[in-house]
Amino acid sequence: MVLDPFSVRVALGVVTVTLFVLFCASFHRTRSPYAGWWSMALLEFMLGNAAFLLNGSAHQQWANPLGNVLVVAGAFSVWAGALTLRDRKAAPWQLAIAPGITAVASVLDSPASNVWSGGFVYLAMMTTGIALAAWDLWFIKPTHSQVHKALSLAAGLLATYYLGRWAVYALEGPASETFRTYFGPAPSGLVSMVLLVTVSFSMTALTSDQLIKGLRERATRDHLTGLLNRGAFLDLATTELNRLHSTGSGAAIVLADLDHFKAVNDQHGHGAGDVALKAFAAACAASVRSTDLIGRYGGEEFVLFLPGATQERAEDIAAEISRRMAAMTEPEGVSFPTISYGVTSSIPAAADLTFMIEVADAALYSAKAQGRNRIVGADRLEAATIADEARS
Ligand code: GH3
Ligand code: MG
Ligand code: MG
Repeated sequence: MVLDPFSVRVALGVVTVTLFVLFCASFHRTRSPYAGWWSMALLEFMLGNAAFLLNGSAHQQWANPLGNVLVVAGAFSVWAGALTLRDRKAAPWQLAIAPGITAVASVLDSPASNVWSGGFVYLAMMTTGIALAAWDLWFIKPTHSQVHKALSLAAGLLATYYLGRWAVYALEGPASETFRTYFGPAPSGLVSMVLLVTVSFSMTALTSDQLIKGLRERATRDHLTGLLNRGAFLDLATTELNRLHSTGSGAAIVLADLDHFKAVNDQHGHGAGDVALKAFAAACAASVRSTDLIGRYGGEEFVLFLPGATQERAEDIAAEISRRMAAMTEPEGVSFPTISYGVTSSIPAAADLTFMIEVADAALYSAKAQGRNRIVGADRLEAATIADEARS
């Protein structure tokens, strides 16, 4: 008994419509880009398979190429969805190129009489799109749940199946016994259904992963500058300092405060103040290493945690930040404020973070008292004296 392609297509259509509704609901609720791309892919699969139902009718001439294009676009939307789980984005041209090539190949291959118009290119593009999705799903960071590995395997198997379809199509043609038995529309429809069920099963886990990641990002980042907020900075720096002390190394702290910042707001408006804060954040980010931590400590006060840095190196970084800030393009008529710094470094196996920040704060206080636009360094012994002198 041979499976009847029409019935399989209708069944596949029903499964796809059901999943489309579920994914749309999920996207509506979570705004997860992953669910968004899958809704898109399912819509494309759905419309593509609907177009194939017109095979054999007078509409086949346009419906057959259109079906090919939509299904290939669906495979590449799946890939785009997988990319969002790796925090990447597919460029529009990357998504358009395969459907574009498929369209040309199908239209040039007698689509009015040939239900496999452009079949060779269509199968090659499908294999590529699904294989790319499998690849990117596999390499999602392990902080996410492991569900993506199962999904990657499922996509990998489907890509292999499409490779088989492609090879048999090329070697024996679509009318051959092997192709019709194992790789024709009916068996491939069944295989697609298995994949869709796997996908829907993993959807909840992957969308909530993405949701949690977004929320965590919002909870730890300062909205204006994108730097760590105070709480997240203190948590991360404390953990890192403990780790450093356990290995016998230390770290440096730099506290920075923009000079007469209130005047920027007063003279040029809050918007200009915000621009200056963002410029300062950019100057900091450009001056430190990827392992250093930068936090917005308060309104116009910032804090840097530099693992393994000496006092001298930390003071050099502060000077570098000021140099970069001075070199930044300022909005018309505004001049960016100068910066005062308090810098301190921990000796191995001593000083907790709170104490280091107190010392840096005393040094910063002294920098302000001495006339601003300068870097004052302090070790733990100097700190008390500096603070006293500054206050007197
Ligand atoms: P000093 O040199 O002594 O540090 O003087 P200052 O004017 O920089 O310090 P002060 O503490 O008097 O003023 C800080 C100002 O920072 C007041 C506040 O309105 C402004 N500020 C805090 N957060 C923001 C923000 O997110 N955007 C803008 N535009 N201004 C902010
Ligand atoms: Mg200030
Ligand atoms: Mg301040």
